[in-house]
Amino acid sequence: MKTVFSLSDLRTARLSFKGTVGLVATMGYLHEGHLSLIRQAKMDCEHVIVTIFVNPTQFGPNEDLSNYPRDMEHDLSLISPLGVDMVWNPSPEIMYPPGYQTWVQVEAITRPLEGALRPGHFKGVATVVTKLFNATQPDKAYFGQKDAQQAAVIRQMTRDLNYPIEIVVCPTVRESDGLAMSSRNNYLEGADRKAATILFRALSAAKEIYEAGERNAEKLRGKMKEVLESEPRAQPQYVSCADYDTLEEMAVIKGKALLSMAVFFGQTRLIDNFVLG
Ligand code: AMP
Repeated sequence: MKTVFSLSDLRTARLSFKGTVGLVATMGYLHEGHLSLIRQAKMDCEHVIVTIFVNPTQFGPNEDLSNYPRDMEHDLSLISPLGVDMVWNPSPEIMYPPGYQTWVQVEAITRPLEGALRPGHFKGVATVVTKLFNATQPDKAYFGQKDAQQAAVIRQMTRDLNYPIEIVVCPTVRESDGLAMSSRNNYLEGADRKAATILFRALSAAKEIYEAGERNAEKLRGKMKEVLESEPRAQPQYVSCADYDTLEEMAVIKGKALLSMAVFFGQTRLIDNFVLG
């Protein structure tokens, strides 16, 4: 496994790959969720590139960029048994050289949910993923269902910009108590860690009434809110039952739907979702 930092080393190594290439883009501090994407890429592709880059442009001014957890050595020790060809760990100066002024902006699908509460977040995501696609030229790129809107934005952007890249969305990997794995779970202290299972429990309760035949989206949102309210440590930011493709809130569920939520525990913001139908 090669670890490269500069763009020229990345390009030289990339040119030596003759078969299909899979890309797994991460911000590091890896866990089983990330490793599941790498394993899927390894099954599908002849070569796998993993990128580790904490992208400053997707963090808002009051978000956790400077505190975002990092442990490159541990990340490399987790990746190395998986048969990855190359890890690219560019510096912020490589990705955003002085005087940088080019951005990728995806429109309607970035407006609701996370986009409404994190202005500029998806502009940062779309821009960095474009740059990672350009640099690594993958045939397939792997993203987690955990970040459902991000996956939808990247699918849209890939189509709109005519990238010849297949976007593969992999299932959310969870802890045994249902909490979706996230580098940010590391911030949860004591009672908040236990309380954080309320996201999974709220989503499960809504799914249960959906499976019993409920199609009124407001009833599903109400059920999720009711379960979240039972946990005093949880401060919900939004609860949504939206169309899977457009991410617009629905009145009556028809076809595929996305149940999603963002919930604060103190300063820690967690997101989770289920797909219905
Ligand atoms: P991040 O390092 O948070 O930017 O995540 C890198 C990739 O891993 C993204 O495509 C995420 O959606 C995916 N990912 C993060 N957590 C999980 C999880 N629990 N299960 C599956 N994929 C995940």
